[in-house]
Amino acid sequence: MKFHIVTIFPEFFRGPLDYGIVRRAREANLVEIGIHDLRAFTKDKHQTVDDRPFGGGEGMVLKPEPIFACLDTLDFAPRAGRIAGSTSQSVILLSAQGQRFDQKLAAELATLDRIALICGRYEGVDERVNTALADREISIGDYVLSGGELGAAVILDTVIRLIPGALGNDASSQQESFTAHAGPIQTPDGPDSTCASGGLLDYPHFTRPAEFRGIPVPDVLVSGDHEKIRRWRRRTALEKTLRNRPDLLEEIALGNDDRKVLEEIRNDIQAAKTSAQH
Ligand code: SAH
Repeated sequence: MKFHIVTIFPEFFRGPLDYGIVRRAREANLVEIGIHDLRAFTKDKHQTVDDRPFGGGEGMVLKPEPIFACLDTLDFAPRAGRIAGSTSQSVILLSAQGQRFDQKLAAELATLDRIALICGRYEGVDERVNTALADREISIGDYVLSGGELGAAVILDTVIRLIPGALGNDASSQQESFTAHAGPIQTPDGPDSTCASGGLLDYPHFTRPAEFRGIPVPDVLVSGDHEKIRRWRRRTALEKTLRNRPDLLEEIALGNDDRKVLEEIRNDIQAAKTSAQH
């Protein structure tokens, strides 16, 4: 898989791409990342990448010419084909006005061969980049960043860890928060393999020491009883999701067992509230 980042701050990516899973995936040639300095595609002596907005108003806007010129050298398939999905390529404009990035979109992008990420700055990017060059406009969340670089780094990190072979154990990425997965994962180890998140938030994790500052880890996790551990993990994943992201529960197909457990958790929460009031 190959990424191309288009930015006026190429140095920005020195950190985010040089650690952990992303670094290992690059070293193993699972992914290649080209960083393109937008100023190299300007034609004037001052290497101008921005200009004042038509119609007046605050700030500056990234000009279309250097961005189009940069993409011309990268030889992406025509936009119509990318939109129709007849190529496994995508040119993405990072934008607060875009479709919101999530794990599902990350999984979709992880199936592509080539992705360009165009990083905006200032007040944004000339809209013709969106309407005539990019095939997707993506936001990483409902807040305004000062540039697309952080967004590009978030997308890179999230997508790269989904590329087969990027994680030590590919089952790991299926057990995580937000990951809908049909049925148990086939791995040879113990209870982990039956705890696919199924779109829930991840269950809580603990490691040694078994007691830290007087706080013990839950007994069940040191019991060695795999079935009990599996049920505890499912229950705590349901509980976290109910408390922190109840919206996710509406999109997940829950089994009867899950629904029963959720009812118990709701009752427990209600009981705790009532007793706190007395
Ligand atoms: N005027 C714009 C914000 C421009 S911020 C607006 O109100 O929508 C400058 C650049 O930062 C944008 O062009 C975009 O590339 C990037 N950016 C800002 N917020 C972002 C977000 N939530 N997700 C992805 N990119 C974002």
